[in-house]
Amino acid sequence: MEHFKGKYLLFVEGSIPMGMNGQYGTIGAAGETFHDHLVRCAENAAAVVAVGACATFGGIPAASPNPTGAVGVMDVIKNKPLINIPACPANPANMVGVILHYLLTGQVPELDSLLRPKFAFGYRIHDNCERRAHFDAGEYVEEWGDQGAQNNFCLYKMGCKGPMTFNNCSIIRYNEAVNWPIGVGRGCIGCSEPDFWDKYAYERPMANAKIKAPTGGVEKTVDEFGLGMLTAAGIGIAIHAAASAVAGKREKSGESHE
Ligand code: SF4
Repeated sequence: MEHFKGKYLLFVEGSIPMGMNGQYGTIGAAGETFHDHLVRCAENAAAVVAVGACATFGGIPAASPNPTGAVGVMDVIKNKPLINIPACPANPANMVGVILHYLLTGQVPELDSLLRPKFAFGYRIHDNCERRAHFDAGEYVEEWGDQGAQNNFCLYKMGCKGPMTFNNCSIIRYNEAVNWPIGVGRGCIGCSEPDFWDKYAYERPMANAKIKAPTGGVEKTVDEFGLGMLTAAGIGIAIHAAASAVAGKREKSGESHE
């Protein structure tokens, strides 16, 4: 901090308890509060990088009723460039991405409205999920361990929040790309979104949550959407069957169908 005044990136992990004058969290023998420690270390930083669900948006400590008054870094540091890398855990690939971008360009990467780097959080989990074809086909896990679970069907009805969550974990995965939550059969809990614990982390679909069709257009609930897709698939199958029957008749009568 002394030698690189104004040039270092400050990475922060954990939420900041504001209740009881910050006394819920202290560091060192002098009992410096998390809040004061953060403000002191951020003073001469070039930019501050909040890492993980807690440091970005308060995370589980800030969940209702938030007894310690926990907040994210963006609620404390207002006078610096700030980058949020949420998720629980934050993906190390996204941290390295921010560091490399800063080293190579001297700039913070392009951010979305929640101060998340677009290169990592510009993707909706649902749009890159390996179970998406099952969602589109209306094939869901209805109960843990059922036939659908054994066939890796979509986890929406088990509470997956992939349609509401922006993160690249469906693309880069975790642990050197070994796997990710949906890959092991557990729905997304929306951990890269603000207030995820209160809003998303329960094992049931959002009541009346609306989802856009793959082609855009009107948003529908998952049941309406699944029914629509099934109907469309049914019509497609019927058209295909009719076309095949006509082609078959033509073949029999010696007509070319090229
Ligand atoms: S609802 Fe979840 S499991 Fe289903 S396709 Fe979307 S992200 Fe994947």
